Amino acid sequence: MDKKKIALDRANELKSRIQDYLDIKDTIPYGMSSERQKRYEEKKKKILSILNATEENWNDYEWQLSNKISDLETLLKIILLDEDDINAVKNVGKKYRWAISPYYLSLIDDNNKFDPIKLQSIPTKLELIDEGKEDPMAEEFTNPAGAITRRYPDRLIINVTNECAMFCRHCQRRRNIGSSDNHTSKEELIESVEYIRSNPEIRDVLITGGDALTLSDETLDWLLGEIHAIPSVDFIRLGSRVMVTMPQRITDNLIDVLKKYPPIFINTQFNHPAEVTVEAKKACDKLSLAGIPLGNQSVLLNGINNDKYVMRLLNQELLKCRVRPYYIFHAKKVKGTLHFNTSIDDGIEIMEYLRGYTSGLAIPTYIINAPGGNGKTPIAPQYLISQGKNSIRIRTWENKIMDYPNKPTIDIKDLLN
Ligand SMILES: *Cc1c(COP(=O)(O)O)cnc(C)c1O
Ligand code: SF4
Repeated sequence: MDKKKIALDRANELKSRIQDYLDIKDTIPYGMSSERQKRYEEKKKKILSILNATEENWNDYEWQLSNKISDLETLLKIILLDEDDINAVKNVGKKYRWAISPYYLSLIDDNNKFDPIKLQSIPTKLELIDEGKEDPMAEEFTNPAGAITRRYPDRLIINVTNECAMFCRHCQRRRNIGSSDNHTSKEELIESVEYIRSNPEIRDVLITGGDALTLSDETLDWLLGEIHAIPSVDFIRLGSRVMVTMPQRITDNLIDVLKKYPPIFINTQFNHPAEVTVEAKKACDKLSLAGIPLGNQSVLLNGINNDKYVMRLLNQELLKCRVRPYYIFHAKKVKGTLHFNTSIDDGIEIMEYLRGYTSGLAIPTYIINAPGGNGKTPIAPQYLISQGKNSIRIRTWENKIMDYPNKPTIDIKDLLN
C-alpha cells in the first residue's frame, strides 16, 4: 500500500472533521473583526460626546470607573432599547444593581437583540424569575478568618472587594454586589494575612472579589507585599475581569506593582469571542510581557456561549492573546440568573467537540461546583469505557473503540536486588 496515499486519504478525512466549524465560524461575532473594531471606534466617539469627555479620559481607568453607566436616561442615549427592554431595566433596577463601564457598553451591537455583550450587561425581565438560591455554594460557612474562603487543603481565597467595572448579569456572587461598593477593611485584610501566616500549609493565595483589580495600586502594593513576604506562600493569584470589561486598568504603574511580587498568575473571565478585542489583547499582552501567566475561567451561559462552535472560537481567540483556557464553570442556580443556566449535556457536548478537534492548549476543564461547597468537580465526556485487570477499553475523539493493556506495575527495587 502506498504510504503517501494513506496519509493523503487520512488528511482528507481529518479535513472533513472540521468543515462544519469552518462553514459556521465566520457567522460568529468576534472582537478583533474589522467590522466590530469599526463599530467600537464609532461608539466610543458617540459615548465621549454624550459624556462630554476626551479620548484621554477614555484611556484613563479612573474615568471609566467613575463614569460607569447606571441610569436609564444615559443608557438610552447610547443604545437602542425597545419598550419591553426599558421596562425590564427599570424593574430589575429596583431589585439588583446594574452598572456598565463606557468601554464595555461601546462593544454592544444594537442591531442584535441577542448580542452577547448586551446579554451580559443589560438587565432583562428574566432576572425577576423568583427561583434559585442566593448562596448555593454556602460560602458563608467556609470563612475561618478575616475575608477568607477556605475550601481546600493548601489554598484559599481572600475576598478584597465587591466592586467591579461592570455588574455581570450572570454574576454567581450576586448577593455580594449589594447596593454599594465596599472594599474589605484593612483590619479584615490584616486578619486574613495573619491567618495565612499562621497556617503554613497554605501555599497558593487567590485574591478575588468582586474584581481584585478595582483595588488601588497602593492597596494592591501593600497587600501583595504582605502575602509575598510569607515564606510558605509559593505564589499569588488574582481574579479579575478588567481585561474584558475595562482593559484601561492595566496601566504601566500597575504592571510595576505586580512585577515586584512574582510569581503572580491572573485568571480572568472571557465568555464570548466578541469580548476578545484589540484593546483586551493589548491589556493581556502587557501582563504576559510582565511575566504574568494568564488563564481564563468562563461561565457556561445559555444564549451566550452554550455552543460548541462559539466555545471553540473563544478558546482559539484567547490563545492569540496568550490567555490559556483554564475552566468552564457550569452556572449555579443563583437567584436572578436562572435563565442563564444550561443543561450539563451542553457542557459535555462542548468538551466533546474540543478534544481532538482543536489544540490541547485551547481545552479548559469543565467544572461543576459540588453542592454545599464541596468543591470543584471535573466533568468530561467518557474516554475510559471500561477498566479491567489486564486491559482497559478506550474511546478516541473520533469514537473509535480500542483496547489498551493495563500492565501491572513492577517493583523496581525487587528486580534490582
Ligand atoms: C476555586 C477555588 C480555589 C481555586 O481552585 P483551583 O482549582 O486551584 O483553581 C480555591 N479556593 C476556593 C474557595 C475556591 O472556590
Ligand atoms: S466581574 Fe465577576 S464578581 Fe464582578 S459582577 Fe462580573 S462575574 Fe460578578
